[in-house]
Amino acid sequence: MKRTPELVEEETLDPVDWASLKELGHRMMDDMFDYLQSSRQRPAWKKPTKFALNSMQHPLPQFPQDAAEVYEHFFTQILPYNTENGHPRFWSWVQGGGTPIGMLADMLASGMNTNVSIGDHMPMYVEKQVIEWSKEMMGFPQQAGGILVSGASLANITALVVARNHFNKSIRKKGLQTVNAQMMMYGSAETHNCVIKGVEVIGIGSDNFRKIPVDDQYRIRIDLLKQMICEDREAGHLPFCIVGNAGTVNTGSIDPLEALAAIAKEEQMWFHIDGAFGAIPKILPEFEDRLKGIELADSLSFDFHKWLYVNYEVACVLIRDTNIHREAFATAVNYLVPHERGLSGGPDPFSNYGMELSRGFKALKVWMSIKEHGIQRYQYMIRKNLRQAQYLAGLIQTEPSLELLAEVPLNIICYRFNPGGLEEEELNIINKEILMRLQEQGIAAPSYTLLNGKYAIRAAITNHRSRMDDFDILVEETLRIGKELMT
Ligand SMILES: *Cc1c(COP(=O)(O)O)cnc(C)c1O
Repeated sequence: MKRTPELVEEETLDPVDWASLKELGHRMMDDMFDYLQSSRQRPAWKKPTKFALNSMQHPLPQFPQDAAEVYEHFFTQILPYNTENGHPRFWSWVQGGGTPIGMLADMLASGMNTNVSIGDHMPMYVEKQVIEWSKEMMGFPQQAGGILVSGASLANITALVVARNHFNKSIRKKGLQTVNAQMMMYGSAETHNCVIKGVEVIGIGSDNFRKIPVDDQYRIRIDLLKQMICEDREAGHLPFCIVGNAGTVNTGSIDPLEALAAIAKEEQMWFHIDGAFGAIPKILPEFEDRLKGIELADSLSFDFHKWLYVNYEVACVLIRDTNIHREAFATAVNYLVPHERGLSGGPDPFSNYGMELSRGFKALKVWMSIKEHGIQRYQYMIRKNLRQAQYLAGLIQTEPSLELLAEVPLNIICYRFNPGGLEEEELNIINKEILMRLQEQGIAAPSYTLLNGKYAIRAAITNHRSRMDDFDILVEETLRIGKELMT
């Protein structure tokens, strides 16, 4: 039992004994390197034990505890029950696996503990550098700008606020109730739910997001979009924004982006693209045709933490016209006025481009990662994941009791076990059971979706650690469990 140390006025939160904390820090570093290096040796998932869960039910600590003991708790009860999204056979949802350099960069950023919002200090310029690189990767023009945020969800909301405020110039002061006609938004029925949440948050209301039906490849039906906009105009509504998908979350489908850009232009509407993971192949020359139109968007969201494998969390929103971006968020308050010189000089504060004032140094891990690997290595990794997706699709198609449930335009594969002779409802139950067993047995961690009512085992490959034989294992084990369930 530790005694409460006497509080004296000179006390800080820094250690009294720096040497022993330094030693502990080195142990943490060694442990984390070992952890990263041994991902393949671990199960793809492990359920947290009762003991671990109970260890998160402790009352508020009143007294100091040794840092080494706190670390021990982390090491024995938290680390072993990670999501394991760094595992070579993790393909759930759309989650990247991070890298060692990203981990180190996060430590450096946290050590600097910079608030990247305002002031003349180098982290501000690092983020600006990352935004310039993002523009170059996505083919955005010189006058474009952007900001780093936590994820594509926030990136999408940021872009939608800009779109809304640009359409309704009085909205920042007067609010939405001054609009007599309803502002309307459009996107396919496959649009990610974070966009729909964004539509709610910005006060448009999800009923006023027209979910346009998709074709048999899950792409927006352009004819129905045009018709809907036309009908809405006739009804006196105000169509102001189209959201295109570069890589839908269910199947990785890419909307006809150029056609959407053309409609937006003709209708004088804002064109936003949610390219959370699917915009990333824009850095591959062979994707020029398939992702044509990204460079035409008024705004674009994409994640660094998914298919660019950067550690959680960091995403980017690019806005074609940086003045319009600034008009949506800039404020003038006495305590944030830039000065000619001193710490309060420097670049335009990032708070003029988004909702957050305090912001961490997310840019560092992106900057260090891109420098360490170079774009060529990212191109290699993305091509590898794309080849793996085709490889897995091929394995499924040659296996009579497996069924590919959607085409594979990018890195997402939806399939199910279907030995024949079963009702749809039975297939759904069996495939859900297969998925849970794949995870519980620590074999692999794909996730799931429903496609036209059919339960699909879904693998999203944004994993730089996966090898071809990992997909052989997924197929073999799916079959093994499926057959077990049939007997
Ligand atoms: C993951 C995803 C999002 C949300 O991104 P977060 O980084 O999780 O906030 C949005 N759209 C698509 C298509 C996604 O896959």
